Amino acid sequence: MSKYCFGVDVGGTTVKMGLFTPDGELLEKWEIPTRTEDQGAHIIDDIAVAIEQKIADRGIEKDDVLGIGVGVPGPVDKNGVVFQAVNLGWGVVDLKSELEKKTGFSVKAGNDANVAALGEQWKGGGKGYDDMVLVTLGTGVGGGIIVNGKMLIGVGGAGGEIGHIHLEDKETEPCGCGNFGCLEQYASATGIVRLANRKLAASDRESVLRSQPVSAKHIWDAIKDGDPLAVEVAEEFGEYLGKGLAIIADICNPKAFVLGGGVSKAGDILITYVRKYYQKYVFHASRDAIFALAVLENDAGIYGAAKQILE
Ligand code: ZN
Repeated sequence: MSKYCFGVDVGGTTVKMGLFTPDGELLEKWEIPTRTEDQGAHIIDDIAVAIEQKIADRGIEKDDVLGIGVGVPGPVDKNGVVFQAVNLGWGVVDLKSELEKKTGFSVKAGNDANVAALGEQWKGGGKGYDDMVLVTLGTGVGGGIIVNGKMLIGVGGAGGEIGHIHLEDKETEPCGCGNFGCLEQYASATGIVRLANRKLAASDRESVLRSQPVSAKHIWDAIKDGDPLAVEVAEEFGEYLGKGLAIIADICNPKAFVLGGGVSKAGDILITYVRKYYQKYVFHASRDAIFALAVLENDAGIYGAAKQILE
């Protein structure tokens, strides 16, 4: 008998859904809009209806559904209770109980970044590594820590919030979290642009970056072309991120770091700068950690969501 599980990745504009086999084969994926009106009161209903429709469309027996795993943009505790997901309009929501009641299936829920780490560990860039860290370098810096094949969740579901490791005492602009000097302020797409703009403003030195509005992609292209000012930006970026990852490694000694998100599109050159400073700062026993690129992109969330059911 074939068995199935669902992976659901709830975002601020769409809910991504996937139907999987227990071996991790993605049979079908689709999306529904996220209805954030009325404090997101309809989201759980919409997920339940979409799953029931899919089961009916494919003629799947209810007994063959192992369960539904969900990823949510906010802290989620071990019992599947969400503590504020601003993008969804949610305060405290007992997601696991509510979705179980509406569908009759077993439900597990986790923070979306932690769940994405589980996905990359299961079928992506961290495949085969029971101890790994996903670092998502996007608009912000997110991530998830997998220890012994399990997500590090913490008491309130805020484990793996690596973007807010404090790295810079002299920072004068606040991070989105309200603190000053977080990793995210330097290692995200907006962070590297900030580093470049500060360096451009500090002198009149020539750089190809002066001829265009600076974006993360322009900066990495300039680095690859050897633009001296851009290369200095890469060194600063690498020092911040390498130092942040060294701190993580000193705590959990991972086998691998998997880098994802828009900034990781820069590819191997990104790893070169990060590893240089990582190896400078980390305790010697963690020096040989593997650096790899994420491969599942936007599907990491549905893969990891589904994997929660199989644990
Ligand atoms: Zn912060």
